[in-house]
Amino acid sequence: MVLREYAESEKIDAIYFQKEWTEEELKVENNLRKKLSHITFHSYYDQFLFHPEDIPINLEQLPEVFTRFRKECEKNTNVRACYTSIKKFNLSNRLKKNFQCPTLEDMGYLEIQAHPNTAFPFKGGSDAAKNRISHYFWKSKKLSYYKNTRNGLLGIDYSSKLSAWLANGSISAREIYWEVQKYETEVQKNQSTYWLIFELIWRDYFKFISLKHKNKIFHLGGILDKSYSWENDLTVFKKWINGQTKEPFVNANMLELKKTGWMSNRGRQNAASYFAKELFMDWRIGAAYFESLLIDYDVHSNYGNWMYIAGVGNDPRNRKFNIRSQADRYDENGNFQQLWNQKSLFE
Ligand SMILES: Cc1cc2nc3c(=O)[nH]c(=O)nc-3n(C[C@H](O)[C@H](O)[C@H](O)COP(=O)(O)OP(=O)(O)OC[C@H]3O[C@@H](n4cnc5c(N)ncnc54)[C@H](O)[C@@H]3O)c2cc1C
Repeated sequence: MVLREYAESEKIDAIYFQKEWTEEELKVENNLRKKLSHITFHSYYDQFLFHPEDIPINLEQLPEVFTRFRKECEKNTNVRACYTSIKKFNLSNRLKKNFQCPTLEDMGYLEIQAHPNTAFPFKGGSDAAKNRISHYFWKSKKLSYYKNTRNGLLGIDYSSKLSAWLANGSISAREIYWEVQKYETEVQKNQSTYWLIFELIWRDYFKFISLKHKNKIFHLGGILDKSYSWENDLTVFKKWINGQTKEPFVNANMLELKKTGWMSNRGRQNAASYFAKELFMDWRIGAAYFESLLIDYDVHSNYGNWMYIAGVGNDPRNRKFNIRSQADRYDENGNFQQLWNQKSLFE
């Protein structure tokens, strides 16, 4: 409704956007197409690092093991350049004149405040994404240490924290890639600078996996058609989301997610592994819960990682995390668990 009004007031006759292929995302697109039937839609595969037309592999033959995919692409595929300049319209003035963009208050969100302990205290939008890169790469040079810190749990700088901007299209994987190249030329090239690209290739991989397997990524048996026996006990689920399991490390991570919409990669791996491989709960319930809260929710990364951890996806070794030893290793002095498990004023 709002978009139609806006399109009419601005006399928009074409929309350019990223191509989506998963069911619910397509439903949104198709609804929009119906409502804006007088507008031409142009969609592109622009959310990838490696453009699907450039990789040396047919989609049907896409390897089910990440390393093979990564090596093939690294050897044979160039990352496309970013567009150098985009003509900017002075939308804000025109918006003010013709159209009022709804505010958060209009949508019923009266009091939004970031949790004081959040590890993601950032703002939305592409300027904020660029500021984050400016801080993480150029000012603090934290990029040079990324490989050693990326499994952290506390604070804003243990990892790049670029996922939320990537997920909503405020920044692209290619922009990050070319900024890393620049950093490697002007500041330093090391294992850490490479590792950020390595992780972006994981992101791409899950997108290719969902392109290949379509709706199977939402099936209980996953892309492997595994028939394990799964539970769906509501009480068990509630204990997990409310941080009341017997594992303080899982609890701390789940409380962080509930209170802030953020959880580190290490936390996500442990919380998901515990849910699927110790509680034997239908992994899709856990994935849907993450989907409902994660500030960086991305359909391909979320369901791809969940399948991987539940043993119905792309982990050839079907591993299970030992939660206690993970807590000892990554939260040695218990600071992270203390932060989230303590009763606080900011419930
Ligand atoms: C169960 C589970 C669910 C997840 N759900 C999501 C999700 O909905 N959205 C999402 O963006 N990521 C998801 N991830 C992947 C990963 O946890 C986040 O991308 C990462 O924690 C974001 O923090 P960062 O930007 O600081 O990452 P960094 O460590 O700085 O990595 C840089 C970028 O690489 C990509 N990346 C890193 N790790 C992964 C990974 N394992 N899989 C795919 N891409 C990766 C992300 O785009 C990330 O922004 C999930 C992981 C697990 C185990």
